[in-house]
Amino acid sequence: MKCITGKNGYYREEEAQEALIRSHIRFPKAAVSYYLCPDCGEYHLTSQGEEHPLLRDPEVRQRIRREQQAQEWRERFRR
Ligand SMILES: [Zn+2]
Repeated sequence: MKCITGKNGYYREEEAQEALIRSHIRFPKAAVSYYLCPDCGEYHLTSQGEEHPLLRDPEVRQRIRREQQAQEWRERFRR
């Protein structure tokens, strides 16, 4: 079901976490956290407010860095 906010909804918190990490890999300033929406009852990403502690987790940070590097390599090969 489509939410009135027009944002993508994530049914489970783990999906929202995964989406948050992925958005960071692609656009470092895209989203800082996620929240439970009172309108649709699903999670949405948000670019406002406090950074989610998940993004300060060393393992998560390492993963973001690694995947950003992989992405740079892919872009280099595309040229
Ligand atoms: Zn919603």
